[in-house]
Amino acid sequence: MAAFKTLDDLGEVTGKVALVRVDLNLPMAEGRASDLTRVEMVRDTILELADKGAKVLLLAHFGRPKGARNSTMSTSMVQGDVERVLDREIMFIPEVSGPVVEQSIGILCNGDIGLLDNVRFWPGEEANEAEFAAKIAAHGDFYVNDAFSAAHRAHASTEGLARILPAYAGRAMERELTALDAALGNPETPVAAVVGGAKVSTKLAVLENLVGRVQHLIIGGGMANTFLAARGVDVGKSLCEHDLTDTANAIMDAADHSGCTVHLPYDVAVATEFAANPESFRICNVHEVGADEMILDVGPQATEALADVLKTCRTLVWNGPMGAFEMEPFDTATVSLAKTAAALTLEGSLISVCGGGDTVAALAHAGVTDDVTYVSSAGGAFLEWMEGKTLPGVAALEG
Ligand code: ADP
Ligand code: MG
Repeated sequence: MAAFKTLDDLGEVTGKVALVRVDLNLPMAEGRASDLTRVEMVRDTILELADKGAKVLLLAHFGRPKGARNSTMSTSMVQGDVERVLDREIMFIPEVSGPVVEQSIGILCNGDIGLLDNVRFWPGEEANEAEFAAKIAAHGDFYVNDAFSAAHRAHASTEGLARILPAYAGRAMERELTALDAALGNPETPVAAVVGGAKVSTKLAVLENLVGRVQHLIIGGGMANTFLAARGVDVGKSLCEHDLTDTANAIMDAADHSGCTVHLPYDVAVATEFAANPESFRICNVHEVGADEMILDVGPQATEALADVLKTCRTLVWNGPMGAFEMEPFDTATVSLAKTAAALTLEGSLISVCGGGDTVAALAHAGVTDDVTYVSSAGGAFLEWMEGKTLPGVAALEG
């Protein structure tokens, strides 16, 4: 991992203006934020800077206003949520640059927090216009990026500002980058990757990157069906991308060449309908799947064998559930593997880094969120990192 500066590298900040990029793109239900995880993640950074006497200006996007003002997508919608999580009053500032921002900074006392409006109201944000970034930068003494989840976009607030102002990783960014580096950048070997979820097509680049980097590639979920079909297994009515069997074979060949063992299930949970606790549920060998059956989970024998694989590994990186975990009993393999990973992590024999929208939900369902080493809620940025891509927001911090 290339070096980046953290808040530990900041000198005296009293009276200085910190421009802090955070992720306040909260999931909304009936006009209210339904989950405050993103605010909780950036609390440490905001309070640390405020308590050191900086004037903290929060910079974030909210929804997709496509470069124009839209009152339903103002960051003022989440001002109350931020205040509740921080347990402080903050000042809403309906601009990101110009005289209103300048006057607001004049009103703020040292240690106060201001919330700028949705940076995507201006087309210069997503176009990463240097002029737009410079207008924002003019108000700040330094820039802090604490939004890893937006780091896969080269936008003015995620990349451009870091090129103009002294740039630092916030505490959440620092934790994320440290965890990701331990998982794939510079990991203790052997490394196992679990890749599951619905489709091969959405994770092709992930699989292609991982085969050259890990010693064990565990494939589960719907995507395992495509790999099984590529090996000549009749997967019946299972979710399967038959047009990708050549690709699946190429991935398995590449794995062979780089000394990566690919693990596919040899027993599976099947049913004739996509529903919870169906009467047609049964466990069978992959060669016994009926023409009218769907594979909906990895079977118990394969799950046990995978637990044995994890016991031999020092590092685990996990994206994608092993089965249709939203419906019992097709959560069995996912829950079991999650518990194994958590137990090995607690014993100190495994570093476990997990991410992905449904993966986060599956780990919570298994009750192990706090027992694995790190759970990334970054979604797209986490996947691009698993694909081996350089994230522009991270690269800009690395100078
Ligand atoms: P993530 O969001 O963690 O990256 P994905 O979105 O790729 O994960 O995949 C999650 C979805 O995959 C879940 O909705 C789950 O029900 C589905 N899935 C897993 N296994 C199967 C299967 N065997 N058949 C159909 N869908 C499956
Ligand atoms: Mg998903």
